[in-house]
Amino acid sequence: MYAGMTANRAAGATDRAASHNRRVDFRSDTVTQPTEAMREAMARAEVGDDVYGEDPTVIALEAKVAGLMGKEAALYVSSGTQSNLLGVLAHCQRGEEYLIGDVYHVYKSEALGTSVLGGVASYPMKTDANGGLDPEQVLAGIKPDDPHSPMTRLLCLENTVSGRVQSPERIEALAAAAHGAGLKVHLDGARLMNASVKLGKPAAELVRSIDTVSLCLSKGLGAPVGSVLSGPADFIKRARRMRKMVGGGMRQAGMIAAAGLHALEHHVERLADDHANARRLAEGWRRSRA
Ligand SMILES: *Cc1c(COP(=O)(O)O)cnc(C)c1O
Repeated sequence: MYAGMTANRAAGATDRAASHNRRVDFRSDTVTQPTEAMREAMARAEVGDDVYGEDPTVIALEAKVAGLMGKEAALYVSSGTQSNLLGVLAHCQRGEEYLIGDVYHVYKSEALGTSVLGGVASYPMKTDANGGLDPEQVLAGIKPDDPHSPMTRLLCLENTVSGRVQSPERIEALAAAAHGAGLKVHLDGARLMNASVKLGKPAAELVRSIDTVSLCLSKGLGAPVGSVLSGPADFIKRARRMRKMVGGGMRQAGMIAAAGLHALEHHVERLADDHANARRLAEGWRRSRA
């Protein structure tokens, strides 16, 4: 939805005239092109072997996102799917279970890698019209400690859900219910920065009650690749081992991490422009259909 605007805004002043004739692609906010400034940041990136923990740009990106989320540590990964997979696998053992909204990406759009690769069961619960769950549902979804059932370990939330911002109070109530029952809480925050900009609240505040968070750099933020998983240091250490296991250890990854750092430094406030443009477009379409 926002992609065309991002592509247009990515077109810098010099080729603005050319972009005038370009077709605008509204399929997704993933179909963006890096800006000239982003390409320069990538070209200039200081790099090292990140599997040895020696890439200064990756280290800087991980520190930046951990700070942004108010978490101890973070891990740079190739995609949001990998980030969520590692997140679930670092929380749950084989034969255990996570609760999740039935329309959430981890359940619907990641080939159920958590089950296929991790042997972790998913328990989908019906979301409401805004894409939310309620604490009663969560409590009802938790299985008794009984050999007939998997052990419920984790609640997986999402924000935004198909462009819908989730209420911070509801998220806190869901997390409190889960934590009260001994579960951990993971958030697929692929577009958490959109929610943060929309609500005018820092991301860290939106995930205060959440244990671990996945953030995509390659959606509306406009980086060509990459996501970051954040959480407690011991969790990130487990996730780092899992990342190696799934073949996600990258060497001079600072080349691409630089794009993510650049996006976080320069593209966050501009999400407000995307929101305004998306609304204008939606209202125009609505009027044209009326
Ligand atoms: C895109 C997306 C992901 C996965 O990210 P990829 O980088 O495409 O693997 C996860 N969750 C949500 C909500 C997404 O929109």
